Amino acid sequence: MSVSGKTAIVTGSNSGIGLGVARELAKAGAKVILNSFTDNEEDHKLASDMAKEFGTEVRYIQADMSKGDQCRALIEKAGACDILVNNAGIQHVAPIDEFPVEKWDAIIAINLSSAFHTTAAALPMMRKAGWGRVINISSAHGLRASPFKSAYISAKHGIVGMTKTVGLETAKENITANAICPGYVLTPLVEAQIPDTAKEYDMSEDEVIEKVILAKQPSKEFVTVEQIGGMAIFLCSDAASQITGTTLSADGGWTAE
Ligand code: NAD
Repeated sequence: MSVSGKTAIVTGSNSGIGLGVARELAKAGAKVILNSFTDNEEDHKLASDMAKEFGTEVRYIQADMSKGDQCRALIEKAGACDILVNNAGIQHVAPIDEFPVEKWDAIIAINLSSAFHTTAAALPMMRKAGWGRVINISSAHGLRASPFKSAYISAKHGIVGMTKTVGLETAKENITANAICPGYVLTPLVEAQIPDTAKEYDMSEDEVIEKVILAKQPSKEFVTVEQIGGMAIFLCSDAASQITGTTLSADGGWTAE
């Protein structure tokens, strides 16, 4: 089974890992739905440029993944969903006793609850098609904790639990559900947390990259978005058809420790 001609929806895909995964899927011939909460000219241009580059269908559908009804509407508007990549995510760094309530609520909604809504809406389409792949972008932080990231770590551990449950519920249906757990990938999400982390640790931003961020990653290298895209393609392949309800790490050895 190849991804060619399959419809792939990637949430939060106008940037970073989502965009990288969407590009690998388009390169492999999937019809791709890009998404974010914005509705700018650049978002639609991203889709038309990608369609031209890879000779496949690429559409941009605006939907705010912090809102359950919009998560479900994204799937309905796409009209089909063979491959669902739950990727949209945000981060906030603060000690738990100072963690803003609205940041907690937004992180749980976007990083965790959105996947509940999109999966619930997509599974009937996958069942009808007789094939499906749910790929949740969790994190090494879905398997390990770090200080000051209570909401993110709770959401990323939560999505690993949801992945296991969906894997069991679909085990006999030619549908798999897995979570990719990347270590640090240099995307706008990581770049944005460097100043706050520098404040928390009283360090320069360069020291944060070396001593805090890559300190966790024994390889001392960032993971690339293309590598995460390659893992998604693998999870869609026949070789991965018995891999379900589990996690795949790409973290330079972080979770081996
Ligand atoms: P990013 O900031 O580059 O991308 C996040 C994407 O989510 C963007 O496209 C953004 O528009 C979208 N998004 C944010 N809020 C949204 C909303 N309300 N509705 C719809 N879309 C929304 O960050 P990234 O690093 O590419 O992160 C993507 C995913 O990968 C996240 O779930 C993140 O937790 C996970 N992740 C990232 C890393 C890393 O090191 N960068 C590591 C592990 C896991």
